[in-house]
Amino acid sequence: MSTLALPDMNQLSESGVDFVDEPYFENLLKRKTDPGRIREIIAKAKNKEALEVEETAALLNADEPELIEQIFDTARQLKKDVYGNRIVLFAPIYVGNYCVNDCRYCGFRRSNRDSVRRTLTTRELRGQIENLLKNGHKRLIAVFGEHRNYSPEYIADCVNEIYSVHVGNNSIRRVNINAAPLSHEGYRIVKEAGIGTYQVFQETYHHTTYARMHPKGTRKSNFMWRLDSPARAIESGCDDVGLGALFGLAGWKFEALSLVAHAIHLMQHYRVGPHTISFPRIRPASGVTIKEVAEHDVKDDEFLRLIAILRLSVPYTGLIVTAREPAVIRKTALGFGVSQIDAGTRIEIGGYTEADAQTQALEKEQFELGDIRPLDEVIRQLLNDGYIPSFCTACYRLGRTGEVFMEYAIPGFIQNMCTPNALTTLQEYLTDFASPETKAAGEKILKQEFDKIPEGKRKFEILDRIERIRNTDERDLYF
Ligand code: SAM
Ligand code: SF4
Repeated sequence: MSTLALPDMNQLSESGVDFVDEPYFENLLKRKTDPGRIREIIAKAKNKEALEVEETAALLNADEPELIEQIFDTARQLKKDVYGNRIVLFAPIYVGNYCVNDCRYCGFRRSNRDSVRRTLTTRELRGQIENLLKNGHKRLIAVFGEHRNYSPEYIADCVNEIYSVHVGNNSIRRVNINAAPLSHEGYRIVKEAGIGTYQVFQETYHHTTYARMHPKGTRKSNFMWRLDSPARAIESGCDDVGLGALFGLAGWKFEALSLVAHAIHLMQHYRVGPHTISFPRIRPASGVTIKEVAEHDVKDDEFLRLIAILRLSVPYTGLIVTAREPAVIRKTALGFGVSQIDAGTRIEIGGYTEADAQTQALEKEQFELGDIRPLDEVIRQLLNDGYIPSFCTACYRLGRTGEVFMEYAIPGFIQNMCTPNALTTLQEYLTDFASPETKAAGEKILKQEFDKIPEGKRKFEILDRIERIRNTDERDLYF
Protein backbone atom coordinates (compact mmCIF):
# COMPACT_ATOMS: atom_id res chain seq x y z
CA MET A 1 0.00 0.00 0.00
CA SER A 2 1.30 3.44 -0.96
CA THR A 3 2.31 6.37 1.27
CA LEU A 4 2.57 10.09 0.53
CA ALA A 5 3.46 13.31 2.32
CA LEU A 6 0.69 15.02 4.28
CA PRO A 7 -1.31 17.52 2.18
CA ASP A 8 -0.30 21.17 1.79
CA MET A 9 -2.74 23.19 3.92
CA ASN A 10 -2.84 26.35 1.78
CA GLN A 11 -5.31 25.43 -0.96
CA LEU A 12 -8.77 26.32 0.28
CA SER A 13 -12.12 25.97 -1.50
CA GLU A 14 -13.89 28.74 -3.46
CA SER A 15 -16.04 29.41 -0.40
CA GLY A 16 -13.04 29.28 1.93
CA VAL A 17 -13.91 32.01 4.42
CA ASP A 18 -14.42 31.83 8.15
CA PHE A 19 -18.21 32.07 8.41
CA VAL A 20 -18.21 31.50 12.19
CA ASP A 21 -19.11 35.05 13.24
CA GLU A 22 -18.52 34.50 16.93
CA PRO A 23 -19.61 37.91 18.29
CA TYR A 24 -22.80 37.76 16.20
CA PHE A 25 -23.61 34.19 17.28
CA GLU A 26 -22.94 35.02 20.93
CA ASN A 27 -25.12 38.07 20.68
CA LEU A 28 -27.96 36.02 19.17
CA LEU A 29 -27.65 33.55 22.01
CA LYS A 30 -28.15 36.36 24.56
CA ARG A 31 -31.39 37.57 22.95
CA LYS A 32 -34.75 36.47 24.24
CA THR A 33 -37.42 35.96 21.59
CA ASP A 34 -41.11 36.36 22.41
CA PRO A 35 -43.16 33.13 22.57
CA GLY A 36 -45.35 34.18 19.62
CA ARG A 37 -42.33 34.42 17.33
CA ILE A 38 -41.03 31.06 18.60
CA ARG A 39 -44.35 29.45 17.72
CA GLU A 40 -44.04 30.92 14.19
CA ILE A 41 -40.57 29.38 13.87
CA ILE A 42 -41.88 26.01 15.06
CA ALA A 43 -44.69 26.26 12.49
CA LYS A 44 -42.13 26.94 9.75
CA ALA A 45 -40.14 23.89 10.84
CA LYS A 46 -43.31 21.76 10.83
CA ASN A 47 -43.56 22.67 7.16
CA LYS A 48 -40.15 21.05 6.67
CA GLU A 49 -38.45 24.35 5.83
CA ALA A 50 -34.83 24.59 6.98
CA LEU A 51 -34.30 27.30 9.61
CA GLU A 52 -31.99 30.32 9.53
CA VAL A 53 -29.24 30.86 12.10
CA GLU A 54 -31.34 33.54 13.85
CA GLU A 55 -34.35 31.22 14.02
CA THR A 56 -32.24 28.37 15.40
CA ALA A 57 -30.86 30.73 18.05
CA ALA A 58 -34.41 31.63 19.10
CA LEU A 59 -35.24 27.93 19.59
CA LEU A 60 -32.01 27.35 21.52
CA ASN A 61 -32.97 30.18 23.86
CA ALA A 62 -36.55 29.05 24.38
CA ASP A 63 -36.52 27.66 27.89
CA GLU A 64 -40.20 27.80 28.87
CA PRO A 65 -41.31 24.18 29.49
CA GLU A 66 -44.33 24.56 27.21
CA LEU A 67 -42.17 25.74 24.27
CA ILE A 68 -39.59 23.03 24.86
CA GLU A 69 -42.41 20.47 24.77
CA GLN A 70 -43.62 21.92 21.44
CA ILE A 71 -40.11 21.63 20.04
CA PHE A 72 -39.93 17.97 21.10
CA ASP A 73 -43.38 17.25 19.62
CA THR A 74 -42.38 18.85 16.32
CA ALA A 75 -39.11 16.90 16.23
CA ARG A 76 -41.05 13.65 16.74
CA GLN A 77 -43.43 14.59 13.94
CA LEU A 78 -40.65 15.58 11.52
CA LYS A 79 -38.81 12.37 12.25
CA LYS A 80 -41.91 10.42 11.27
CA ASP A 81 -42.71 12.53 8.20
CA VAL A 82 -39.20 12.70 6.75
CA TYR A 83 -37.65 9.39 7.83
CA GLY A 84 -40.58 7.15 8.78
CA ASN A 85 -39.71 4.63 11.49
CA ARG A 86 -36.52 3.41 9.81
CA ILE A 87 -33.19 3.49 11.63
CA VAL A 88 -30.10 3.02 9.48
CA LEU A 89 -27.39 0.85 11.06
CA PHE A 90 -23.64 0.93 10.52
CA ALA A 91 -20.40 -0.01 12.30
CA PRO A 92 -17.08 1.82 12.59
CA ILE A 93 -13.86 0.06 11.62
CA TYR A 94 -10.75 1.66 13.13
CA VAL A 95 -7.90 0.99 10.71
CA GLY A 96 -4.98 2.76 12.38
CA ASN A 97 -4.29 5.01 15.38
CA TYR A 98 -0.93 6.59 14.58
CA CYS A 99 -1.44 10.33 14.81
CA VAL A 100 0.70 13.46 14.42
CA ASN A 101 -1.78 15.58 16.36
CA ASP A 102 -2.13 16.14 20.07
CA CYS A 103 -5.85 16.85 20.53
CA ARG A 104 -6.31 17.14 24.27
CA TYR A 105 -9.49 15.07 24.43
CA CYS A 106 -8.31 12.07 22.36
CA GLY A 107 -6.71 8.80 23.49
CA PHE A 108 -4.81 8.59 20.17
CA ARG A 109 -3.02 11.92 20.59
CA ARG A 110 0.67 11.68 20.01
CA SER A 111 1.77 12.53 23.57
CA ASN A 112 -0.25 9.67 25.06
CA ARG A 113 2.46 7.12 25.84
CA ASP A 114 -0.11 4.57 27.11
CA SER A 115 -1.78 4.27 23.71
CA VAL A 116 -0.98 0.99 21.95
CA ARG A 117 -0.17 2.07 18.37
CA ARG A 118 -1.18 -0.15 15.53
CA THR A 119 -2.28 -0.15 11.89
CA LEU A 120 -4.17 -3.21 10.70
CA THR A 121 -2.31 -5.24 8.08
CA THR A 122 -4.27 -6.07 4.93
CA ARG A 123 -4.88 -9.54 6.31
CA GLU A 124 -6.04 -8.21 9.67
CA LEU A 125 -8.32 -5.69 7.97
CA ARG A 126 -9.90 -8.49 5.92
CA GLY A 127 -10.33 -10.53 9.13
CA GLN A 128 -12.21 -7.65 10.78
CA ILE A 129 -14.47 -7.24 7.75
CA GLU A 130 -15.19 -10.97 7.58
CA ASN A 131 -16.26 -10.85 11.21
CA LEU A 132 -18.49 -7.79 10.61
CA LEU A 133 -20.06 -9.51 7.59
CA LYS A 134 -20.70 -12.70 9.57
CA ASN A 135 -22.63 -10.63 12.08
CA GLY A 136 -24.79 -9.03 9.37
CA HIS A 137 -23.22 -5.62 8.75
CA LYS A 138 -23.47 -3.95 5.33
CA ARG A 139 -22.44 -0.32 6.01
CA LEU A 140 -19.16 0.76 7.59
CA ILE A 141 -17.28 3.90 8.47
CA ALA A 142 -13.52 3.46 8.26
CA VAL A 143 -11.63 5.61 10.79
CA PHE A 144 -8.00 6.80 10.70
CA GLY A 145 -5.69 9.01 12.73
CA GLU A 146 -3.81 11.78 10.90
CA HIS A 147 -0.48 10.46 9.73
CA ARG A 148 1.62 10.37 6.57
CA ASN A 149 0.96 6.60 6.43
CA TYR A 150 -2.75 7.30 5.98
CA SER A 151 -2.51 9.11 2.64
CA PRO A 152 -5.54 9.38 0.33
CA GLU A 153 -4.06 6.54 -1.75
CA TYR A 154 -3.76 4.40 1.37
CA ILE A 155 -7.34 5.21 2.42
CA ALA A 156 -8.51 4.36 -1.12
CA ASP A 157 -6.62 1.04 -0.99
CA CYS A 158 -8.31 0.19 2.32
CA VAL A 159 -11.73 1.03 0.86
CA ASN A 160 -11.09 -1.21 -2.17
CA GLU A 161 -9.88 -3.98 0.12
CA ILE A 162 -13.01 -3.72 2.27
CA TYR A 163 -15.32 -3.86 -0.77
CA SER A 164 -13.44 -6.94 -2.06
CA VAL A 165 -14.16 -9.11 1.00
CA HIS A 166 -16.98 -11.61 0.45
CA VAL A 167 -18.47 -14.02 2.94
CA GLY A 168 -20.92 -16.26 1.09
CA ASN A 169 -23.08 -13.86 -0.90
CA ASN A 170 -22.51 -10.98 1.53
CA SER A 171 -20.20 -8.03 1.12
CA ILE A 172 -19.94 -4.48 2.47
CA ARG A 173 -22.06 -2.17 0.32
CA ARG A 174 -21.08 1.27 1.57
CA VAL A 175 -17.83 2.46 3.16
CA ASN A 176 -17.89 5.94 4.68
CA ILE A 177 -14.71 7.62 5.93
CA ASN A 178 -13.79 9.57 9.06
CA ALA A 179 -10.26 10.89 8.67
CA ALA A 180 -8.26 14.08 8.64
CA PRO A 181 -9.09 16.84 6.12
CA LEU A 182 -7.72 16.26 2.61
CA SER A 183 -6.74 18.48 -0.31
CA HIS A 184 -8.94 18.62 -3.44
CA GLU A 185 -6.71 16.00 -5.04
CA GLY A 186 -6.98 13.77 -1.96
CA TYR A 187 -10.76 13.94 -1.99
CA ARG A 188 -10.80 13.03 -5.70
CA ILE A 189 -8.68 9.95 -4.95
CA VAL A 190 -10.93 8.64 -2.16
CA LYS A 191 -14.08 9.41 -4.16
CA GLU A 192 -12.68 7.36 -7.04
CA ALA A 193 -12.49 4.36 -4.64
CA GLY A 194 -16.26 4.59 -4.17
CA ILE A 195 -16.58 6.04 -0.69
CA GLY A 196 -19.99 7.03 0.67
CA THR A 197 -19.83 9.95 3.10
CA TYR A 198 -16.62 11.79 4.03
CA GLN A 199 -17.01 12.83 7.65
CA VAL A 200 -14.84 15.48 9.34
CA PHE A 201 -15.86 16.96 12.67
CA GLN A 202 -14.86 20.54 13.39
CA GLU A 203 -14.63 19.46 17.07
CA THR A 204 -15.36 23.01 18.23
CA TYR A 205 -16.35 26.08 16.21
CA HIS A 206 -15.24 28.33 19.07
CA HIS A 207 -11.90 29.82 17.99
CA THR A 208 -10.11 30.19 21.32
CA THR A 209 -11.37 26.80 22.54
CA TYR A 210 -10.20 25.27 19.26
CA ALA A 211 -6.75 26.79 19.80
CA ARG A 212 -6.59 25.48 23.37
CA MET A 213 -7.60 21.92 22.39
CA HIS A 214 -5.26 21.64 19.40
CA PRO A 215 -1.78 22.74 20.43
CA LYS A 216 0.03 25.29 18.26
CA GLY A 217 2.38 23.72 15.74
CA THR A 218 0.23 20.60 15.25
CA ARG A 219 -1.50 20.21 11.88
CA LYS A 220 -4.89 20.19 13.48
CA SER A 221 -4.30 23.63 15.00
CA ASN A 222 -5.15 25.09 11.56
CA PHE A 223 -8.83 26.00 12.18
CA MET A 224 -9.54 27.17 8.64
CA TRP A 225 -8.09 24.09 6.90
CA ARG A 226 -10.52 21.96 8.90
CA LEU A 227 -13.51 24.31 8.65
CA ASP A 228 -13.14 24.40 4.88
CA SER A 229 -12.68 20.66 4.38
CA PRO A 230 -16.33 19.72 3.71
CA ALA A 231 -16.43 22.42 1.00
CA ARG A 232 -13.26 21.04 -0.64
CA ALA A 233 -14.77 17.57 -0.49
CA ILE A 234 -17.92 18.76 -2.29
CA GLU A 235 -15.88 20.64 -4.90
CA SER A 236 -13.96 17.42 -5.54
CA GLY A 237 -17.06 15.28 -6.12
CA CYS A 238 -17.64 13.92 -2.59
CA ASP A 239 -21.11 15.38 -2.31
CA ASP A 240 -22.13 13.36 0.77
CA VAL A 241 -20.27 15.10 3.59
CA GLY A 242 -20.72 14.62 7.32
CA LEU A 243 -20.31 17.50 9.77
CA GLY A 244 -19.93 17.25 13.52
CA ALA A 245 -18.83 18.91 16.74
CA LEU A 246 -17.47 17.30 19.87
CA PHE A 247 -19.85 18.47 22.58
CA GLY A 248 -18.43 19.53 25.92
CA LEU A 249 -15.50 21.62 24.66
CA ALA A 250 -17.50 24.88 24.29
CA GLY A 251 -21.14 25.84 25.06
CA TRP A 252 -23.65 23.47 23.46
CA LYS A 253 -25.85 26.25 22.12
CA PHE A 254 -22.90 27.91 20.38
CA GLU A 255 -21.83 24.62 18.75
CA ALA A 256 -25.39 23.83 17.65
CA LEU A 257 -25.75 27.26 16.07
CA SER A 258 -22.41 26.87 14.30
CA LEU A 259 -23.34 23.45 12.91
CA VAL A 260 -26.49 24.98 11.44
CA ALA A 261 -24.44 27.91 10.08
CA HIS A 262 -22.06 25.40 8.47
CA ALA A 263 -24.98 23.57 6.83
CA ILE A 264 -26.35 26.89 5.50
CA HIS A 265 -22.90 27.93 4.24
CA LEU A 266 -22.61 24.71 2.18
CA MET A 267 -26.19 24.98 0.93
CA GLN A 268 -25.67 28.59 -0.19
CA HIS A 269 -22.45 27.85 -2.05
CA TYR A 270 -23.00 24.36 -3.43
CA ARG A 271 -26.79 23.86 -3.29
CA VAL A 272 -26.17 20.82 -1.13
CA GLY A 273 -26.29 20.58 2.63
CA PRO A 274 -24.47 18.02 4.77
CA HIS A 275 -25.63 14.42 4.42
CA THR A 276 -25.26 13.88 8.16
CA ILE A 277 -24.53 15.78 11.36
CA SER A 278 -22.93 14.14 14.42
CA PHE A 279 -22.84 15.59 17.92
CA PRO A 280 -20.77 13.26 20.09
CA ARG A 281 -20.36 14.11 23.76
CA ILE A 282 -16.84 13.74 25.15
CA ARG A 283 -16.13 10.34 26.72
CA PRO A 284 -13.37 9.18 29.05
CA ALA A 285 -10.23 8.28 27.11
CA SER A 286 -6.78 6.90 27.84
CA GLY A 287 -4.54 9.61 29.31
CA VAL A 288 -7.29 12.26 29.18
CA THR A 289 -8.39 14.18 32.27
CA ILE A 290 -12.00 14.73 31.33
CA LYS A 291 -12.57 17.60 33.78
CA GLU A 292 -9.80 19.60 32.10
CA VAL A 293 -11.25 19.34 28.60
CA ALA A 294 -15.00 18.95 29.02
CA GLU A 295 -15.56 22.31 30.68
CA HIS A 296 -19.02 22.61 29.14
CA ASP A 297 -20.46 19.26 30.08
CA VAL A 298 -23.80 18.72 28.28
CA LYS A 299 -26.48 17.25 30.55
CA ASP A 300 -28.85 14.57 29.24
CA ASP A 301 -31.86 16.90 29.01
CA GLU A 302 -29.76 19.48 27.11
CA PHE A 303 -28.48 16.76 24.80
CA LEU A 304 -32.02 15.73 23.90
CA ARG A 305 -33.01 19.38 23.32
CA LEU A 306 -30.00 19.78 21.07
CA ILE A 307 -31.13 16.81 18.94
CA ALA A 308 -34.71 18.05 18.71
CA ILE A 309 -33.61 21.56 17.66
CA LEU A 310 -31.25 20.20 15.00
CA ARG A 311 -34.14 18.07 13.69
CA LEU A 312 -36.19 21.26 13.27
CA SER A 313 -33.36 23.33 11.75
CA VAL A 314 -32.08 20.84 9.16
CA PRO A 315 -35.03 18.53 8.41
CA TYR A 316 -33.35 16.66 5.55
CA THR A 317 -29.97 16.01 7.19
CA GLY A 318 -29.38 12.62 8.81
CA LEU A 319 -28.63 12.81 12.54
CA ILE A 320 -26.26 10.26 14.07
CA VAL A 321 -25.97 9.14 17.68
CA THR A 322 -23.10 6.72 18.21
CA ALA A 323 -22.32 4.02 20.75
CA ARG A 324 -20.45 6.64 22.80
CA GLU A 325 -23.86 7.16 24.40
CA PRO A 326 -25.38 4.57 26.74
CA ALA A 327 -28.25 2.43 25.40
CA VAL A 328 -30.90 4.29 27.39
CA ILE A 329 -30.00 7.70 25.91
CA ARG A 330 -29.79 6.24 22.40
CA LYS A 331 -33.27 4.79 22.81
CA THR A 332 -34.74 8.16 23.83
CA ALA A 333 -32.78 10.08 21.18
CA LEU A 334 -34.25 7.95 18.39
CA GLY A 335 -37.69 9.42 18.99
CA PHE A 336 -36.51 13.03 18.51
CA GLY A 337 -35.02 12.75 15.09
CA VAL A 338 -31.97 10.52 15.07
CA SER A 339 -31.90 8.53 11.82
CA GLN A 340 -28.64 6.55 12.05
CA ILE A 341 -26.87 4.64 14.80
CA ASP A 342 -23.88 2.32 14.92
CA ALA A 343 -24.42 -1.09 16.49
CA GLY A 344 -22.32 -4.05 17.59
CA THR A 345 -19.53 -1.48 17.79
CA ARG A 346 -15.95 -2.13 18.94
CA ILE A 347 -13.34 0.56 18.49
CA GLU A 348 -10.18 -1.09 19.80
CA ILE A 349 -7.96 -1.58 16.75
CA GLY A 350 -8.64 -5.22 15.82
CA GLY A 351 -11.53 -5.22 18.30
CA TYR A 352 -14.01 -7.17 16.19
CA THR A 353 -11.93 -10.33 16.52
CA GLU A 354 -9.83 -9.64 19.60
CA ALA A 355 -11.89 -7.70 22.15
CA ASP A 356 -13.50 -9.22 25.23
CA ALA A 357 -17.31 -9.13 24.90
CA GLN A 358 -17.86 -7.47 28.30
CA THR A 359 -14.87 -5.17 28.86
CA GLN A 360 -13.04 -2.48 26.90
CA ALA A 361 -9.27 -1.94 26.61
CA LEU A 362 -8.97 1.84 26.93
CA GLU A 363 -5.31 1.93 25.84
CA LYS A 364 -6.27 0.37 22.49
CA GLU A 365 -9.24 2.62 21.74
CA GLN A 366 -9.81 6.30 21.17
CA PHE A 367 -12.37 6.70 23.96
CA GLU A 368 -14.64 4.54 26.05
CA LEU A 369 -17.95 3.41 24.55
CA GLY A 370 -21.26 3.58 26.40
CA ASP A 371 -23.00 0.80 24.46
CA ILE A 372 -21.20 -2.40 23.43
CA ARG A 373 -24.26 -4.58 22.97
CA PRO A 374 -23.98 -7.01 20.04
CA LEU A 375 -25.73 -6.10 16.77
CA ASP A 376 -28.45 -8.73 17.24
CA GLU A 377 -29.42 -7.29 20.63
CA VAL A 378 -29.59 -3.71 19.28
CA ILE A 379 -31.72 -4.86 16.34
CA ARG A 380 -34.05 -6.76 18.67
CA GLN A 381 -34.57 -3.70 20.83
CA LEU A 382 -35.26 -1.53 17.77
CA LEU A 383 -37.85 -4.04 16.55
CA ASN A 384 -39.49 -4.30 19.96
CA ASP A 385 -39.70 -0.49 20.04
CA GLY A 386 -41.45 -0.44 16.65
CA TYR A 387 -38.55 0.66 14.41
CA ILE A 388 -37.44 -0.90 11.13
CA PRO A 389 -33.66 -1.44 11.28
CA SER A 390 -32.33 -0.69 7.79
CA PHE A 391 -29.07 -1.60 6.04
CA CYS A 392 -30.16 0.19 2.89
CA THR A 393 -27.40 1.56 0.65
CA ALA A 394 -29.48 2.11 -2.48
CA CYS A 395 -29.32 5.91 -2.84
CA TYR A 396 -25.59 6.18 -3.00
CA ARG A 397 -25.27 3.21 -5.34
CA LEU A 398 -27.87 4.63 -7.72
CA GLY A 399 -26.28 8.09 -7.68
CA ARG A 400 -28.96 9.61 -5.44
CA THR A 401 -26.44 11.67 -3.47
CA GLY A 402 -25.77 15.35 -2.77
CA GLU A 403 -28.11 17.77 -4.52
CA VAL A 404 -29.93 14.93 -6.29
CA PHE A 405 -30.63 13.31 -2.95
CA MET A 406 -32.13 16.55 -1.62
CA GLU A 407 -34.62 16.45 -4.51
CA TYR A 408 -35.61 12.91 -3.62
CA ALA A 409 -35.97 13.62 0.07
CA ILE A 410 -39.61 14.52 -0.35
CA PRO A 411 -42.76 12.77 0.83
CA GLY A 412 -43.56 9.76 -1.32
CA PHE A 413 -39.91 8.92 -1.71
CA ILE A 414 -39.84 7.22 1.67
CA GLN A 415 -42.89 5.17 0.85
CA ASN A 416 -41.61 4.11 -2.56
CA MET A 417 -37.90 3.64 -1.93
CA CYS A 418 -36.73 3.87 1.68
CA THR A 419 -39.34 1.71 3.41
CA PRO A 420 -39.20 -1.02 0.72
CA ASN A 421 -35.39 -1.08 0.90
CA ALA A 422 -35.49 -1.13 4.71
CA LEU A 423 -37.86 -4.11 4.57
CA THR A 424 -35.77 -6.11 2.10
CA THR A 425 -32.52 -5.47 4.00
CA LEU A 426 -34.29 -6.42 7.23
CA GLN A 427 -35.47 -9.63 5.57
CA GLU A 428 -31.85 -10.36 4.57
CA TYR A 429 -30.77 -9.91 8.19
CA LEU A 430 -33.58 -12.12 9.52
CA THR A 431 -32.89 -14.89 7.01
CA ASP A 432 -29.10 -14.89 7.26
CA PHE A 433 -28.08 -13.75 10.76
CA ALA A 434 -30.84 -13.22 13.34
CA SER A 435 -31.22 -15.17 16.57
CA PRO A 436 -34.61 -16.92 16.95
CA GLU A 437 -35.98 -14.14 19.26
CA THR A 438 -34.87 -11.38 16.91
CA LYS A 439 -36.29 -13.26 13.94
CA ALA A 440 -39.67 -13.52 15.67
CA ALA A 441 -39.67 -9.79 16.52
CA GLY A 442 -38.58 -8.97 12.96
CA GLU A 443 -41.24 -11.07 11.26
CA LYS A 444 -43.87 -9.23 13.29
CA ILE A 445 -42.63 -5.78 12.21
CA LEU A 446 -42.25 -6.90 8.60
CA LYS A 447 -45.85 -8.02 8.49
CA GLN A 448 -47.11 -4.83 10.19
CA GLU A 449 -45.17 -2.61 7.80
CA PHE A 450 -46.08 -4.64 4.75
CA ASP A 451 -49.78 -4.39 5.63
CA LYS A 452 -49.47 -0.58 5.72
CA ILE A 453 -48.23 -0.38 2.10
CA PRO A 454 -51.01 0.68 -0.29
CA GLU A 455 -52.18 -2.00 -2.72
CA GLY A 456 -50.52 -1.73 -6.13
CA LYS A 457 -47.50 -2.58 -8.23
CA ARG A 458 -44.91 -1.53 -5.63
CA LYS A 459 -46.48 -3.72 -2.94
CA PHE A 460 -46.34 -6.67 -5.33
CA GLU A 461 -42.66 -5.94 -6.15
CA ILE A 462 -41.75 -5.77 -2.45
CA LEU A 463 -43.46 -9.08 -1.71
CA ASP A 464 -41.69 -10.68 -4.67
CA ARG A 465 -38.29 -9.53 -3.35
CA ILE A 466 -38.99 -10.57 0.22
CA GLU A 467 -39.94 -14.04 -0.98
CA ARG A 468 -36.87 -14.33 -3.21
CA ILE A 469 -34.66 -13.46 -0.23
CA ARG A 470 -36.47 -15.94 2.01
CA ASN A 471 -36.40 -18.80 -0.46
CA THR A 472 -33.31 -18.35 -2.63
CA ASP A 473 -29.71 -17.09 -2.45
CA GLU A 474 -30.62 -13.82 -4.17
CA ARG A 475 -29.57 -10.77 -2.15
CA ASP A 476 -29.06 -7.02 -2.58
CA LEU A 477 -32.37 -6.35 -4.36
CA TYR A 478 -32.93 -2.61 -4.08
CA PHE A 479 -35.15 0.14 -5.49
N1 SAM B 1 -8.09 11.81 13.07
C1 SAM B 1 -9.33 12.13 12.44
C2 SAM B 1 -9.72 13.55 12.78
O1 SAM B 1 -9.19 14.12 13.72
O2 SAM B 1 -10.60 14.07 12.09
C3 SAM B 1 -10.34 11.17 12.91
C4 SAM B 1 -10.96 11.59 14.12
S1 SAM B 1 -11.48 10.52 15.34
C5 SAM B 1 -10.92 9.01 14.88
C6 SAM B 1 -13.22 10.71 15.21
C7 SAM B 1 -13.80 11.71 16.18
O3 SAM B 1 -13.83 11.17 17.48
C8 SAM B 1 -13.05 12.99 16.36
O4 SAM B 1 -13.27 13.87 15.29
C9 SAM B 1 -13.59 13.50 17.68
O5 SAM B 1 -14.68 14.35 17.51
C10 SAM B 1 -14.06 12.24 18.37
N2 SAM B 1 -13.38 12.05 19.66
C11 SAM B 1 -12.07 12.19 19.93
N3 SAM B 1 -11.85 12.00 21.25
C12 SAM B 1 -13.05 11.74 21.81
C13 SAM B 1 -13.50 11.49 23.16
N4 SAM B 1 -12.66 11.48 24.18
N5 SAM B 1 -14.81 11.27 23.37
C14 SAM B 1 -15.69 11.28 22.35
N6 SAM B 1 -15.33 11.52 21.07
C15 SAM B 1 -14.04 11.76 20.80
FE1 SF4 C 1 -5.45 12.34 16.10
FE2 SF4 C 1 -8.01 12.62 15.36
FE3 SF4 C 1 -7.33 11.87 17.86
FE4 SF4 C 1 -6.86 14.35 17.11
S1 SF4 C 1 -8.91 13.37 17.25
S2 SF4 C 1 -5.40 13.03 18.20
S3 SF4 C 1 -6.35 14.07 14.99
S4 SF4 C 1 -7.01 10.73 16.00
